[in-house]
Amino acid sequence: MSDKPDKFIDDNGLRLDGRRVDEIRPMKIDIGVLSRADGSCYLEWGKNKVLAAVYGPRTLHPRRKQIPDAALIRYRYNMASFSVEDRIRPGPSRRSVEISKVSAEAFEPVVLTKFYPNTVIDIFTEIIQADAGTRTAAINAASIALADAGIPMKGLVSACAVGKVDGQLVLDLNKDEDNFGAADLPVAMTQDGEITLIQMDGNLTQEEFKEAIEMVRAGCMEILEIQKKALYTKFGDDSSFDLTEE
Ligand code: ADP
Repeated sequence: MSDKPDKFIDDNGLRLDGRRVDEIRPMKIDIGVLSRADGSCYLEWGKNKVLAAVYGPRTLHPRRKQIPDAALIRYRYNMASFSVEDRIRPGPSRRSVEISKVSAEAFEPVVLTKFYPNTVIDIFTEIIQADAGTRTAAINAASIALADAGIPMKGLVSACAVGKVDGQLVLDLNKDEDNFGAADLPVAMTQDGEITLIQMDGNLTQEEFKEAIEMVRAGCMEILEIQKKALYTKFGDDSSFDLTEE
């Protein structure tokens, strides 16, 4: 692990990687990168590299797990052994099981599961390279992969973290800011601004919390535009990519 820097924000208000406090890292999106999946996405966000694959809706087995009036959303978040400096032990961990659970829940309000009774929609996310913000990166990639699979949704889900370093709120923490910062608050939201995932490490005052939510809301809306642009570039601005309204 790197040493703690003396300062995270310089006299010009810029962070160690040159960003302003309210600036997200550059994001790059490739759609349909896996031919076996029904929908897929490769996403780079700063130094994070993430793959998402969606399978389904397909009949859920065993049948006793089927939901008669809806599809089940299953979500797997996994970090590759080589995704961080120290090797990560393969297989589920407490952290990955927790992230998988809350990420599935982040999609439940938007996916129109009622159209596909007794089925399962499987979302697999693999972190290939990690640099903080991987759960939010995976959600952004999964959202695109769901759209690529043609799964009807009320809209996309966009996610970003906000945190606190040197006593200041900063958007989209990088690894050092996450490691040594005072707070880390990942958030996912719908295009209407409804929060579908919120977690928090560390402490913020009530005022800071309110300001942090506004900051992360702006970040999510910026990401939504990047996601939409990627989809329009791939599929064209027409009905072939259809976000069905309820
Ligand atoms: P997120 O990646 O969603 O921000 P965390 O805050 O738990 O999730 O992790 C922050 C960062 O710490 C990760 O992106 C990764 O770079 C690193 N990290 C997480 N788990 C491990 C681990 N088991 N070993 C080494 N580094 C890890």
